[in-house]
Amino acid sequence: MSIQISERVSALPGYPLAEIPAIKRRLLEAGVDVIDLGAGDNDTPPPAVVVEALREALGNPALSKYGFQQGLPAFRKACSAYVERRFGQRFDPVTELLPLIGSKEGLAHLPYAVANPGDVIIFPEPGYQAYIGGTILSGAVPHVYPLRASDHFLLELGQVPDSVLRQTRLVYLNYPNNPTAAIAPLDYLERTVAVCRKYGILLAYDNAYCDLTYDGYIAPSIFEIPGARDVAVEFFSLSKSFSMTGWRLGWAMGRPELIGALTKVKSYVDTGPFLALQQAACVALDRSEELVAPVRELLRERRDAGVAALGAIGFEVATPKAAMYLWVRLPAEMASAPFARRTLEEFGVVTLPGSAFGPAGEGYFRIALTVSPERLSEAVARIGRALEATRGAGVAVAS
Ligand code: PMP
Repeated sequence: MSIQISERVSALPGYPLAEIPAIKRRLLEAGVDVIDLGAGDNDTPPPAVVVEALREALGNPALSKYGFQQGLPAFRKACSAYVERRFGQRFDPVTELLPLIGSKEGLAHLPYAVANPGDVIIFPEPGYQAYIGGTILSGAVPHVYPLRASDHFLLELGQVPDSVLRQTRLVYLNYPNNPTAAIAPLDYLERTVAVCRKYGILLAYDNAYCDLTYDGYIAPSIFEIPGARDVAVEFFSLSKSFSMTGWRLGWAMGRPELIGALTKVKSYVDTGPFLALQQAACVALDRSEELVAPVRELLRERRDAGVAALGAIGFEVATPKAAMYLWVRLPAEMASAPFARRTLEEFGVVTLPGSAFGPAGEGYFRIALTVSPERLSEAVARIGRALEATRGAGVAVAS
């Protein structure tokens, strides 16, 4: 007897990180010193004050109750205060803000709130998996926009045919960008907001990396662009800034009707983030500048070490101003998936092949700056040996 699997699930591409844990476990069991530069999950601990606040929160039984979508009013206020301090934008904590079980969940649920089956959703490729996931699972039609180095990895809505834009309900933008580490100039954001206003397209601005910036660069909120409030919802995450990936906490912000629609979707599928986490996260947000500064400095050192080590083995990588990744171009015609597999299986380094982010990611691999400069240098040396081995074996051609 066979049970049917839905067409929507069948239409989802294989999840890029899915097979890596099994291979990694096998290697570790065999005694291999594996260096994991795969997931964007920093090796730094969450801030001690936040951990302490969580410990305390766990002692309060009221915080073990259902949070529902409203969650902890203090968390909503802390998110709103952070955004006002950081970007000079005021949002009502009650009606214009929604706690999320990590921003991924909100990004993936958003299409259910704003798109009907058959509507078009535009997202970048290479890009974060939640965009295609939400699009396909909600029955919307993906329009994949390939990001190109020659366009500074910017998703230019002006390049999308008018006929597509007319059917589009939602576009996902992510700057600072995963995986390319590209950043969005303000004039780019202005022209993008203008297109969204013209066609009535909701702009989902994924700002998960807004505080991981270097060399004096400060990442903006989409709401700093005049007119953006009419057409944008912005997503924030505590994962990367505060090394709280596993805690699962973020929030969405935008005008009340849009936040209300997403709230309604979520009230049918989840019951909100754990209240104790929300309480502890207030400490992180209230002290964000002081707590993120050391992480930023650490990542900058790693970035510099990674770029230098890659340069030494012949990979030219532009020094990124934000995020926590190096997006590295492979030699022409070298396929990224076999290269990443060899790098892991024979040299014990987890990287992500560009093709894992969709076909437009082919020709690159991604390094996450999740380990110390010394470990990064060691990892890059091994990547160099994988490169030599691949060249020696004859080049696998990208299909
Ligand atoms: N957006 C982007 C671009 C990401 O890379 C990630 C995490 N890798 C997220 C959103 C989701 O973060 P979280 O769900 O942990 O808040």
